[in-house]
Amino acid sequence: MIDRLPLPPDTHRLSAPVAWPGQARCAAMISFDFDAETMWLSRDTTNIRRPALISHGTYAAKVAIPEILAILREAGIRATFFVPGWTADNHPAVVASILEAGHEVGHHGYLHFWPEPDKPREEAEEIEMGLEALQRNFGIQPLGYRCPAGETTDRLVGLLAQYGMIYDSSFMDDIHPYVHRLDGRDSGVVELPWHWSLDDVPYTVYSLRGQRAIQTNDHVRTIWSDEFREYHRRGALFDLIMHPQAIGRPSRLRLLADFLAFAASFPGVWFATAGEIAKHVLETRRT
Ligand SMILES: [Zn+2]
Repeated sequence: MIDRLPLPPDTHRLSAPVAWPGQARCAAMISFDFDAETMWLSRDTTNIRRPALISHGTYAAKVAIPEILAILREAGIRATFFVPGWTADNHPAVVASILEAGHEVGHHGYLHFWPEPDKPREEAEEIEMGLEALQRNFGIQPLGYRCPAGETTDRLVGLLAQYGMIYDSSFMDDIHPYVHRLDGRDSGVVELPWHWSLDDVPYTVYSLRGQRAIQTNDHVRTIWSDEFREYHRRGALFDLIMHPQAIGRPSRLRLLADFLAFAASFPGVWFATAGEIAKHVLETRRT
């Protein structure tokens, strides 16, 4: 018999805009996934013995983060950095500098692991190890989570609720935030949706094993600016997803500074951290 593979019932809810605080017309969440070397370790841990390969990620800690923090300070914007536990364990001073600058640190797994639907224990361990690393190094309990590489299982929302997190930023099914339902009830976990088009990696990261054309800054700027204009018009949540090893290259840093100034030139843009946006959604939600 053919399995009909029904979608979960909550998938069929319609999208609805959020009433933003004050006079804000839209929200902008500036986020960075500080993967560092984990992007090259999660699928092949033997890469720890290939230092030139993983040095692509080392660049994030060594060069990019200080530059990015300076740009954010200049722009007066607080961002959200999603940090794998392994990165916290191996680059604690860099993560501490992010926290000292007033930015939010969110959960991004431990070793940037891609969970398998049939391996629940592995998935839970990855989340627990990530939480433990952030707690042990910095004494923080993250408010929310972004899955590594856009990969989740159907257990994710339940796990986040179980570990006291109030948001997720992994799904691509909306442009407005919404509250996940779990077993027919309000889960208390807000979704802050994202999309690959607002991610820097598809345009800028190259490797011999994953070849794709590196795009010009004009190309990236055009897509991000066109998207921003329409998100603003719709009162949506513009969730920009960057990776320090990608956006931290010299000319890309100029792109970042210019783009932040462009977005700030629109009326009524609420630049906020993921946690601030999630709290607002929870406080104003209709149940
Ligand atoms: Zn990542």
